[in-house]
Amino acid sequence: MKVTEHLAKANGKTLFSIEVLPPQKGKTLDHLVSVIQPLMEFNPQFIDVTYHPEDVLYRKREDGLMEEVPLRKRPGTVGICAALKGKFGVDTVPHLVCIGFTKEETEDALFTLGYLGIDNVLLLKGDPAKSPAANIKNGYAYASDLVSQVALMNKGIFLHEETENEWKTDFCIGVAGYPEKHFEAPNLATDLKNLKRKVDAGADYVVTQFFFDNKYFFNFVAKAREAGINVPIIPGIKPLQTAKQLSILPSKFYIDLPEDLVSAVEKCKDEKQVRQVGIEWAIQQSKELKAAGVPCLHYYTMSRSEPTIAIAKAVF
Ligand code: FAD
Repeated sequence: MKVTEHLAKANGKTLFSIEVLPPQKGKTLDHLVSVIQPLMEFNPQFIDVTYHPEDVLYRKREDGLMEEVPLRKRPGTVGICAALKGKFGVDTVPHLVCIGFTKEETEDALFTLGYLGIDNVLLLKGDPAKSPAANIKNGYAYASDLVSQVALMNKGIFLHEETENEWKTDFCIGVAGYPEKHFEAPNLATDLKNLKRKVDAGADYVVTQFFFDNKYFFNFVAKAREAGINVPIIPGIKPLQTAKQLSILPSKFYIDLPEDLVSAVEKCKDEKQVRQVGIEWAIQQSKELKAAGVPCLHYYTMSRSEPTIAIAKAVF
């Protein structure tokens, strides 16, 4: 079922959904299954699975020089989505990215997803790739271009063709939004204009980058509505898990950490206490968002179940 159908069927009730990462190359699916299993109690309506382009590994050669080895650290998103849907009977949402893939490779993945009966895709530009080869392959500059491709596929028009085919895809299309603006955007208003491009190109809903201060989300939604973006906007929530994230999250994700959260973490004696602070913060955030009537709360699990279980127990 499509994400938008789940939201419509909920009749105003706030739904629960999660994002997981594919296992690292060479690892089994067992850990991922063990992460999802206990979360099934809270009835996730859909499970997002992230997508990862080629990266590089630096390896010492026999002659002592370093060589660059192309490596996809977390392959398998498409197959994992099919496996999880089969195992848990839950809709899965594969992420697809522009960086590192040609249009033809992406079309092939979309054909496979269509034939597998996957109803949703979250379309993204992708994180900047470390691999030069991945960057050269960049088929599209922006996620909106990928949205246009999928919108055409939904009409049965495939790459390098102009007429409709007998078979067509029927994907519900999600895209990313940034309550604190995307790091490349000069300001929030410009970023919202670009978000509107994605919606105008065919996006059906938006999932946001995580944030730790709900005021950013409420402001983002209000500004998005003013900008004519009328699709559902789902807040993404990430429980803080380590003290180190106080510096990693702002530098990597360009988000703000509220002073109260920072001082609560600074008072912690160990990482266990930090995790508890992170969980309690996410519970308060979630309760306020739910009371404000958000359509769904989407949790970035980072493939760890305990924090999300504790939050879901308190919120749902
Ligand atoms: P875009 O929508 O293309 O926007 C990128 C920037 O370009 C923005 O600043 C925007 O304002 C600007 N822009 C857009 N269109 C135009 C235009 N026509 N002209 C000028 N400027 C324009 N990364 C992964 O690699 N794998 C994942 O699985 C993944 N999952 C994610 C899930 C969520 C919910 C979120 C929020 C992010 C995820 N990311 C993932 C990270 C994402 O790929 C990066 O944040 C990336 O830098 C931007 O992606 P986007 O789709 O928002 O880009």
